[in-house]
Amino acid sequence: MKGEWKAEFKVWGCYFFTIFIVTFLHETGHCIPAWINGYKAIPTLAKEYSLTAIPSGLLKYVSLGGLTATVLVAVYAMLFFFNSSYKYKEVILAGTLAMPSVYTFRFILIGRGHDATEFQEAQSALGLSYSGHFFDWLFLAIAILGATVWFIKKKPKSQIAGRLLIGLVVSIVFIVLLQKINNLIFDPLFL
Ligand SMILES: [Zn+2]
Repeated sequence: MKGEWKAEFKVWGCYFFTIFIVTFLHETGHCIPAWINGYKAIPTLAKEYSLTAIPSGLLKYVSLGGLTATVLVAVYAMLFFFNSSYKYKEVILAGTLAMPSVYTFRFILIGRGHDATEFQEAQSALGLSYSGHFFDWLFLAIAILGATVWFIKKKPKSQIAGRLLIGLVVSIVFIVLLQKINNLIFDPLFL
């Protein structure tokens, strides 16, 4: 029993660690267009902070940078899952798909995957309709594709459904908490 708990602890630890890294990469992606154009920006675990005012024309690319990072990481995680024999590759895939899944869940629930205007800004950077849903659908597609890749390779038994549901709820709580704690620590420092 003790060994089981230890294994369980390792799985969740790896899962949350992956979410940490993936969100940090997302925030770093936001900073890259700012850095390229000579503006100071700092990525943290759940938010990017610009230390100098970024011109409005550049802001849409800052939005796009973060989303591009998330898409690239998700594609990489799917390829890694397919090709690697690493013990926790499945957990890493799940951690990488947590954000797209939460976006998708929010999209289905309230019609927009992201709060504020991150998706809209990024869409306008791509020359797409500002008020459209390109990124909502893209993340929905990624979440479904990731789940399908996992399903085909893993062929899970039906009992897994309960565990997946717990995973979704825990992920939402974790991501919300991560943002709140991050803001509590870094907002006073950088805003
Ligand atoms: Zn973002």
